[in-house]
Amino acid sequence: AVKNREEEMHRSVLGQLKPDYVKVKESLKGLNLTTVCEEAKCPNIGECWGGLEGTATATIMLMGDTCTRGCKFCHIKTSRAPPPVDEDEPRKVAEAISKWGLDYVVLTSVDRDDMPDGGAGHFARTISTLKDLNSKVKIEALVSDFQGNEACVKTVVDSGLDVYAHNIETVERLQGRVRDHRAGYKQSLKTLEYAKSLRQDLVTKSSIMLGVGEKDEEVFQAMRDLRSVGVEILTFGQYLRPSRRHMRVYEYVPMDKYDYWKREGEALGFAFVASGPLVRSSYKAGEFFISAMLN
Ligand code: SF4
Ligand code: SF4
Repeated sequence: AVKNREEEMHRSVLGQLKPDYVKVKESLKGLNLTTVCEEAKCPNIGECWGGLEGTATATIMLMGDTCTRGCKFCHIKTSRAPPPVDEDEPRKVAEAISKWGLDYVVLTSVDRDDMPDGGAGHFARTISTLKDLNSKVKIEALVSDFQGNEACVKTVVDSGLDVYAHNIETVERLQGRVRDHRAGYKQSLKTLEYAKSLRQDLVTKSSIMLGVGEKDEEVFQAMRDLRSVGVEILTFGQYLRPSRRHMRVYEYVPMDKYDYWKREGEALGFAFVASGPLVRSSYKAGEFFISAMLN
């Protein structure tokens, strides 16, 4: 039943693709870029790639396809020793993105606990090279907690990005059920707080999956905690189980609840809250960044 429901959702959204999506897809050919949007068959691709003028967004995965962690909701393959990263990837990715003509790019990666700096330097080189080639493109980095290492956070923040994103994923009580044992609620909040303290003009962002067993009061607490460390953009989406090996869905959250969390979040002072069953951390990120800036 879960699978049918997911397929139904995917079909209904993919059926509404806009011409801009086709334009962005065409321009991607030959650039040798791996987008999460395509790899994960993300149902939001039509809205993100064909977003409002000046806000077309795509998500690019850096540092390979194998993660050193194993979160219970995630379909990415895992290994203690993933293949070494391509040292030339920052240049190749930056050149490809700058040719692509996107307005907003989200750079993300698997967690690389095997690298001494968790991959922070690799992110930073990609971002600074891309800004040198195209100063207009807005860059969001969705990064790991770097095991709480402040030097790694600073490396990314100093690279010139516009939005520093790190997902707490769920409420404090359910961290162990949902995330890898090396992740943690307080550690995640600490990295977001530190990133903001380094650059007041930096926008910080986080995301919560709903439907994994959280209670309303716990969600409120998570929102208050995120606000207390200066987070400005928050997204809420429904957890969908990638396969039977993954954590089960505890609840399909009704539509009006998403509206409720959006209202409550904005009342708590977030500059922007994106909330809906198919909303993912990078969903229409360019459009929401502009909205947050205007608030
Ligand atoms: Fe997936 Fe990220 Fe967890 Fe790795 S750290 S398993 S990529 S959610
Ligand atoms: Fe790509 Fe993220 Fe949008 Fe999905 S939600 S299409 S992964 S930018």
